[in-house]
Amino acid sequence: MRYHIWTLGCQMNVADSQLLASELEKRGHHAAEDWEEADIWVINTCVVRQSAEDKAYGRLNELKHLKQRHPGKIIGLMGCLVGVRDPLRLRKQLPQVDVFLPPSDPAPMIDFLSQHSAEGEAIQAEAAARAERDALQDGELLLPQHERNALISAHVPVVYGCSFACSYCIIPFRRGIEHSRPVGEIVGHVRSLGRQGVKEITLLGQIVDRYGKDIPDGPTLADLLRVVHGVAEETGIERIRFLTSHPNWMTDRLLDTVAELPRVMPHIEVPNQAGDNEVLARMKRGYTIEQYIDLVGKIRDRIPEVAIHTDIIVGFSGETETQFQRTYDVLAQLRLDKAHIAKYSPRPNTLSARSMPDDVPADEKERRRKALDDLQAQVVAEINARWLGKTVPVLFEEQHRGKWRGRTPQNKLVFVDSSENLFGRVANVEITWTGPWSMQGRLPGRQSDPAPEVIEILPIASTQ
Ligand code: SAH
Repeated sequence: MRYHIWTLGCQMNVADSQLLASELEKRGHHAAEDWEEADIWVINTCVVRQSAEDKAYGRLNELKHLKQRHPGKIIGLMGCLVGVRDPLRLRKQLPQVDVFLPPSDPAPMIDFLSQHSAEGEAIQAEAAARAERDALQDGELLLPQHERNALISAHVPVVYGCSFACSYCIIPFRRGIEHSRPVGEIVGHVRSLGRQGVKEITLLGQIVDRYGKDIPDGPTLADLLRVVHGVAEETGIERIRFLTSHPNWMTDRLLDTVAELPRVMPHIEVPNQAGDNEVLARMKRGYTIEQYIDLVGKIRDRIPEVAIHTDIIVGFSGETETQFQRTYDVLAQLRLDKAHIAKYSPRPNTLSARSMPDDVPADEKERRRKALDDLQAQVVAEINARWLGKTVPVLFEEQHRGKWRGRTPQNKLVFVDSSENLFGRVANVEITWTGPWSMQGRLPGRQSDPAPEVIEILPIASTQ
């Protein structure tokens, strides 16, 4: 059968969708070129904000009609809308859905398909799957066919779930308690990606710098980076990143490891969420803004030319104009490379939704969001302008509107005009134009465009 997976939300969902695709292909199913041709439809959902949940329900409504016209289609609902706790609780409300898949768990779809396919087919698929499984070592992932030797950057979950309850956050409710993957499994996963042409991996966790804390005498993220670095050298993976870090678990040792290992990129995603201590306390973040500012200083001291990204929530319960202004001032002072700004959205069961009013009006939240976005656009334009005329190693991923698109070690987008095949290559690029969201450059010795066309790409949210 042919499948189509529609992925909303964070990189963890991208990784989960890839795992599902891999498991389906092991059993002889193929990706549909066009979603309308697919027999199996999966929506991998995000509920971190109401707007994300609304998108999932919008698509579920479309699928309801599709299912009426084509009752044979198999519809799967995956991810945080389903959750780990009671995955079947939406069954009555969503009769169009055949299979509910908790985050990171393809098994319900695989079981459904084996129960519903003809017996002969099921035996054949099972035998094929067994052969694939036997050939794969612990943790190894067979990329879906269209990604084999075609995907440059891939995500590797290293910590599932989250046990650190920020008062606004629904993720611990939907992804369950924190648990780290064993090193051996991660090594298998990374090695298999390297062998299939992947050149950059991003290790993922809700609080990735807590890696190993749930394993007695377990390894730390620094230890894991060292092991993964060895695998990268062996298999031709050029770059390693990790996200998202929490300020409280960023150790000096981790920062020194990032600085020391050449394939680990100088790029740290460490959200502060707010610039005011009272708001931070109500968010239950566990640090003060002074501690966050010190941490940024330390990261910059220890990792040369590091890019630091943050997440901010505006309009949190009770956030006054003065408190918002503190967040604005902190961002203006810190001059970070990227800030994902979100408007506070109360989520079911969270402490803030249960006990704190959502009292900042919608238009005021929007004003605050825009103020920070505008500030950030100016700051990042200035930061990026410092790269003008410099030569930087760019890992190229794809062609986009006739230009090669790649990223610098700091994860800045760069476009280059070239007739050479740069796919999957790291090449030195001289930066000839910079803007807040992207840069342009040329390969040394080549002419650049006389008047560079301005390509502005919206920032890609690290987590939505
Ligand atoms: N675990 C990561 C990321 C969590 S979700 C962390 O520790 O930060 C990604 C981002 O979504 C968060 O960093 C936060 O800025 C935002 N977010 C989470 N819950 C939200 C809510 N209820 N309303 C608005 N934004 C939210």
